[in-house]
Amino acid sequence: MSKYLAKIGLEMHCEISETNTKVFSGARNYYSEEPNTNVRPVDMAFPGTLPVVNKEAVRLSLMASMILNCKQPEYIWFERKNYYYPDLPKGFQLTQETKPIPVGIYGKVDYECDGKIKSVRINNLHLEEDAASLDHFYDTTNIDYNRAGVPLLELVTEPDFHSAKEAVAFLEHMRSIYQYANISEADSKKGQIRCDVNVSIMDSSLDENDPNNWGTKIEVKNVNSFGGVRDAINYEIERQTELKETDKYDEMEQQTRRWDEESGTTIYMRSKVDAIDYKYFVEPNIPKFKVTDEWLEEIKKSIPELAMERKKKYINEYGLSDYDASVLVKEKKISDYFEECLSVGIDAKTSANWVSVNIIGYLNKEDMDISDFYLTPSMLKQITDFIKDGTISSKQAKEVFFKAIESKKEPKNFVSKENAQISDASELTSIITDILDSSTTQIEQYKNGKTNLFDYFVGQVMKNTKGKANPVITKEIITKELDKR
Ligand code: ADP
Ligand code: MG
Repeated sequence: MSKYLAKIGLEMHCEISETNTKVFSGARNYYSEEPNTNVRPVDMAFPGTLPVVNKEAVRLSLMASMILNCKQPEYIWFERKNYYYPDLPKGFQLTQETKPIPVGIYGKVDYECDGKIKSVRINNLHLEEDAASLDHFYDTTNIDYNRAGVPLLELVTEPDFHSAKEAVAFLEHMRSIYQYANISEADSKKGQIRCDVNVSIMDSSLDENDPNNWGTKIEVKNVNSFGGVRDAINYEIERQTELKETDKYDEMEQQTRRWDEESGTTIYMRSKVDAIDYKYFVEPNIPKFKVTDEWLEEIKKSIPELAMERKKKYINEYGLSDYDASVLVKEKKISDYFEECLSVGIDAKTSANWVSVNIIGYLNKEDMDISDFYLTPSMLKQITDFIKDGTISSKQAKEVFFKAIESKKEPKNFVSKENAQISDASELTSIITDILDSSTTQIEQYKNGKTNLFDYFVGQVMKNTKGKANPVITKEIITKELDKR
């Protein structure tokens, strides 16, 4: 047992991408590569403009809160967190951090890590607005207001994780929840997920449930990828362990650091003692509004099927293995594609095979998203139908699959009479009897125990048909015909 136990708490920010408009303005909530195209006067803090709360953003937040087993508030309101930074045109961010009751409190979430079910307590989930984004160049900085006012959910966990592995497994679980519940694409490449990680270490012989035994908390800000979260946590555990071995640990103050991707280290930003005074006060332009029981009931009923439920269905109803089911539900878009294969009439095992092996393999190799993948489930059905009726072998099917996606033409274009597999029993029987008729010596040797000559007969049939004979049927007929002689 290691001498120290790490305590890790996460603050996970996730943009809500599935509303039409921003959280307090009518500007489009839409990820765009083109800067400053989704902006309204409210986002720019023009005098005289007033915020209007986006009901859909609140509905999705409450849904997330329910999925995390949190308690929902009776009233919703917001407050201003005041600070100056160029990405914050209003000079304050609307949030729910101190006085307002957040959209969720005191939850608990189960997640899977290394095949084991673990659980983490949720301190709170609150709804706020995102800031603009800054693009730094050599001697200038560009501001893009597209992101200003995008609804942002901040999830704060208790420090219940003990390793980077657990923290990342939880983040993956959360990403899946946000995707399956149609709350967010939760795409880190679009900057939709950002994390702050809090790490401390304590003596592992002490009771970890008593906060008095916890070590000094180090907060690492703005870690933008799950790989970054993993590396930042491991780096901090190692750094703090080394400090423990000297007497400097006890002098260490609570501090905020930032993750530096390039050097793979955390860098000191400020001590908690110099904490910024945000001068929080209630946003006067948004009246408190009541969350009715009827509304909560309605939201609860509308929670879509989540990954865990789909996985159970795949195992129990479709007979897939635990492993295959996990692979298929990992990304919602992949799981949706798989379900569409079933609805166009491909059976579950065949669909699972094609999706988990050929399709996911291809997407990974090309670093492609399935929404950009050419072959639709109904096109895939052309291929599986050709295999089923014996027109093509499974080896030919793979060739057709790649030809179709590479040339962006439907699979049926690559299956012609000339290269079709021969599965017709009477046609094959006639070819096989001809071959056997002229192989009397080999048949005699075969009958005398040289059974590996069977492959010779198969080879002759393949040669004769230029490899188009259906191998399974060919073998059946050869066996039957040899028995007769
Ligand atoms: P602050 O007031 O500094 O924001 P909080 O108590 O609100 O701190 O906690 C913020 C985050 O830090 C939470 O995710 C929480 O789980 C985590 N945290 C608190 N104490 C510790 C600790 N000793 N070690 C690691 N994480 C901690
Ligand atoms: Mg916050």
